[in-house]
Parts: sequence; structure tokens; C-alpha cells
Amino acid sequence: MITVPEYDMHVHTVLCGHAHESATVERMSAHAAVLKMKLLCFAEHVHCMGTLEELKQLRDKIDAVQSACSCKLLLGAEIDCDEKLHDGSLVVNIPEWLDFVIGSIHFSHPEWPEVNENLFTHWQQSLLGLSHNRKVDMIGHPGAFIFNADNWQKWRLGIYETFHQAAANSASIGQAWDMNNLTLHKLRGRAREQYWKVMQIAFDKGVKLYYGSDSHHISSLGRIGNVMSILKHIPELEPDRIFRLPPELGRRFNIS
Ligand SMILES: [Zn+2]
Ligand SMILES: [Zn+2]
Repeated sequence: MITVPEYDMHVHTVLCGHAHESATVERMSAHAAVLKMKLLCFAEHVHCMGTLEELKQLRDKIDAVQSACSCKLLLGAEIDCDEKLHDGSLVVNIPEWLDFVIGSIHFSHPEWPEVNENLFTHWQQSLLGLSHNRKVDMIGHPGAFIFNADNWQKWRLGIYETFHQAAANSASIGQAWDMNNLTLHKLRGRAREQYWKVMQIAFDKGVKLYYGSDSHHISSLGRIGNVMSILKHIPELEPDRIFRLPPELGRRFNIS
């Protein structure tokens, strides 16, 4: 079994303002090469047009290190879903110059929101909208938002039904879901115990699952502990299917 992923589609840098100082393009790229990764996607947060413009700084840094780096580097973005429209639209129009787009639900909310009819509907429509959006390559940490609510269990039937629908949509358009190594760490109690079911639903529906460390620190690059604890509940999903470079990504980004 592979113990270090061959790729990582979800990595942050110091540009986001809440990452460790070690998370520079230069150091993350060099470390990915030491880990023998073939593909690393910088996917910085985009909350608005201003943050999108700032990503251009990363393009310059990536171009400066790529020729000396054995790992292919991408300029992606983790773009917020628009919480006012809550129909799966992203907060910015996706520009041509992004290599890979993650759409994530990060509604502004108290740390542990309360699910009510309104919040549930907004979350549901956002996730379903994302799952129809062909410009979104991958849905970021699906479920991380809703499972953070203290009372999510009261809504669990609707939540799981929504995941079933979203997974069917994503599978039909070839959209991936993020097998995110940070999500489990952020969840609590029953949500942490049950989170694997989201990935099981995705796998059963044929959704592509891409590994993402969601690193904000150089030391989390290549870590798989939380993903492994999800996978132990899904024996038919072999770890190598998550950790090997998916062939379609190899073709798309010219990696042998
Ligand atoms: Zn996120
Ligand atoms: Zn992230």
C-alpha cells in the first residue's frame, strides 16, 4: 500500500492569512518533491473578487520554482459558495487562468451553528447546486459545514438524502469530491464517528474521490491518518485508489 499520496489537490499557503509561516509555495513544493509527489495543487481561499486577484501572486511564485521541481504544481482555488444566492453559484466568475477549481461551503456562522429549516435549505440548495456546476472540478470537504452544527442529528435523514442526490449529480458530470484529511479533525462527537458515511455514499454512487490534505502547515503535507480512519469503514475502497494519482489527472496535466 502507498503510505505517502502521489498527489494532493487541496493545499493552502501563507497567502490565506491563517496558515503557518512554513506554508510557502517554495517550501511546500520542495517538500512535495522530497515526498516524491507527482502533483500538488495550491488551492487558496477565494471569498470575493479581491482574493481572486491576489492569487495571481501565486502564479508568479509557482512559475519561479516549477522548472527545478519534479512535482507538477497547479494554481487552483478553493472558492466559496455564494451564501446569499445559495444555489451553488460561486462568489466569483471562474477565470480561465485557474488550473483546478474547488467549490466549498463556508457560510459565515457562529462556530457551532444551529440547523433550522432556513439553514438546512440553504445548505441543501448550495450543495445540490454545486453538484450540477460543471465548472467546479471538486466539491471541497463535503459535509464539513453541516456536521459542525450541534443539532445535525435531528436533520440527518435530510442530510443523507441530500448527499445521495448530490453524489448522483457529481458522478454524472465527472465531478470529484474531496477526500479531505483535515475534516475529521475539525468534527466532534457523533459527527466525527459518522462522517465516513458521506464518503461511502460518494463511493457507492461512483463519484471520483481525490485526496486533499487541506494543509495549512508544511508538516501536514502527505499526512493520511484521518483519511485512513474513514477508509477503515469502507473496506471495498482500497487506499491506493485514493492515494495513487488518478489517471485522468495525469492525462489532464501531462504527468506520466
Ligand atoms: Zn475549506
Ligand atoms: Zn481548504
